[in-house]
Formats: sequence, C-alpha cells, structure tokens
Amino acid sequence: MTVDSNRTDSTRTAVTVRVPAKVNVQLAVGAARPDGFHDLANVFLAVGLYDEVTVTPADGLRITCSGPDAGEVPLDRSNLAARAAQLLAARYGRGPEVGVHIHIDKDIPVAGGMAGGSADAAGALVACDALWGTGASRDELLALCAELGSDVPFSLVGGAALGTGRGERLRPLEVGGTFHWVFAAAEGGLSTPAVYREFDRLTAGTEVPVPQAAPELLDALWQGDAVALAGALTNDLQPAALSLFPSLARTLAVGRGAGALAGIVSGSGPTTAFLVADEDAGVAVAAALRGSGLCRAVRVTGSPADGATVLPG
Ligand code: ATP
Repeated sequence: MTVDSNRTDSTRTAVTVRVPAKVNVQLAVGAARPDGFHDLANVFLAVGLYDEVTVTPADGLRITCSGPDAGEVPLDRSNLAARAAQLLAARYGRGPEVGVHIHIDKDIPVAGGMAGGSADAAGALVACDALWGTGASRDELLALCAELGSDVPFSLVGGAALGTGRGERLRPLEVGGTFHWVFAAAEGGLSTPAVYREFDRLTAGTEVPVPQAAPELLDALWQGDAVALAGALTNDLQPAALSLFPSLARTLAVGRGAGALAGIVSGSGPTTAFLVADEDAGVAVAAALRGSGLCRAVRVTGSPADGATVLPG
C-alpha cells in the first residue's frame, strides 16, 4: 500500500495513480435489508489488471478516457473519478468549480464486476490529493472512498481484505503466495443493481443465511494454496448472473475444461475469473477462452496486487 508516496508534492503538474481491479474470492450475500441493501461477507483480492488515472490542472472539470472499453465510460460528472475529485475539492475548500483534467487509461473491463469505476474513483482521489497537496490523512481518504461506493475503499488499499456491512468495512487479510488468474470479459455488461434484484427474486421465500467468511477460504489465502482456494471459491451472486446472462455457463465450462482449477463469475459479472495452477496453465486456459468466441477480451495476471499507487512523475 503506497498511497503516501508523493502525496503532498504541490509542485507537480501531473500525477498518475495506478489502481488494481479486484476479484471476489468469496461473495456471501445476506437477505435484502429494509433499506434495500444486502449485508455481505466479501473477500476481496486485488489483481494485476490496472487502470491508470492521470490528473493535471485545467480551467474546468474535463474527463478523457483511453483503452479498449473507453467508449462505454461516461465522460461527464457522473463518472466516478469526477465525483471523487469533486468530493475531495468540496471537503478541502477547493470547490465549487473544480479545475482538473482527469485522464483514465482503462484496462479494467467496464461493468465487468471487477470494480473498474471504483478503482478510478480511488485513483482520482489519491491523484488529486497529491496534485493539490490537500494533506488528507489515509483515514480521511478512506472515509471519502466509503462515501463514493462500497468497493472504493478496497481499491485504495489493495492486497486482500474481508469486507463486511455493505462491503465497505475492511479487515486486511494476509496472503501467503501468488495466485495466477485468467479473466474473460464477456460481450456486454451486467448492471449490479439488476443482479441483486435477480438474487432477491431467486431467493424469495427461502431462508438466506447470515453472510460469513469461510474459514477454509481465509486459510487457503493465508497458506497461498491455489488448490485449496479453488475448492473454496464461492459467489452467491453467480446464480443470478447466470440467470441474466446464460452464456456465462458455457464460458465457465470452457475454462474448466481447459484445465483451470476453478472458474467463477467475478462479483456481479459478467466477467468470469479462472484460478489456474501456474502461468503455463493460464496461457492454455486463455487460448481456449479466446478460441471459444464467447469472450471479447481475455487477460492473464496474478494476485495479490498493491492498492492505489502514485507512479513516479
Ligand atoms: P462493481 O464490480 O463495483 O460492481 P463494475 O466493475 O461491474 O462494478 P464499473 O466498470 O465500475 O462496473 O461500471 C459500472 C457503470 O458505472 C458503467 O456502466 C458506467 O456507466 C458507470 N461508470 C461511472 N464511472 C465510471 C468509470 N470511471 N469507469 C467505468 N464505468 C464508470
């Protein structure tokens, strides 16, 4: 976790922050609460698939984006990175008109269940903090992250963590080794609220257990044991994601058939994540997924990864 480097260097004219995607190695979802949210036990693992957020001074607020999914990213104030910059500016006396150009170089699939928007929000917060020299403490930045969305605090800290509540209360977890992953981004996206609505529909009239982290999963992470982790991966949103996006079942079958230790829908989907034994297995699984014609992009990478990191200027 390196959010402190270069944080208060107000002489910089551009700051770039690299922020990782996440995979949920366990996503346990409780019954809908009266406020409509769900309690979660959410085991996050940051993976080496990154967006880079660069901020430079400008007359007004300007957002640009590059990368394979750039066309799907909103370039107005609804962009989570813009909301993060505005929130920081308002809290640290720089509002109401924010003068900053935010450029997002995007490698994390959009609407893929890998917290890409959350990563950009955390990146913009850390980058603007460094550019403006606001001097916000790490805890203050984490509190702003939680206001922006329940996945944003984890994007800031990276590594591995257990999130409870709506996922935003984080307890860091130790990881005893490197895991190898293949991610298959599906054609099209899935809206997270729609997946939760489908979860509610599928579980209506059933007893939904209180979400809890599985001890065997935490142990597998701690040991760095990929085979044990493969046996413990769970995602309570997977039936809902498969119900809304049935072709994901075929993608999962292709990855498993090509030798993945396990395959799972990442978060609310539709990205699928395959845990593999090593890099060579990753190359074989990626080739099978690319050949299937079921995915628009396939990436091979490792975990855990550092959280939001200011790159040398
Ligand atoms: P999560 O895993 O946290 O549920 P996700 O990875 O499935 O999220 P995002 O990529 O964060 O989904 O995007 C969800 C929607 O948010 C997009 O369809 C887009 O309209 C909007 N959005 C706002 N800001 C951004 C951003 N910076 N990058 C991507 N999408 C953004």
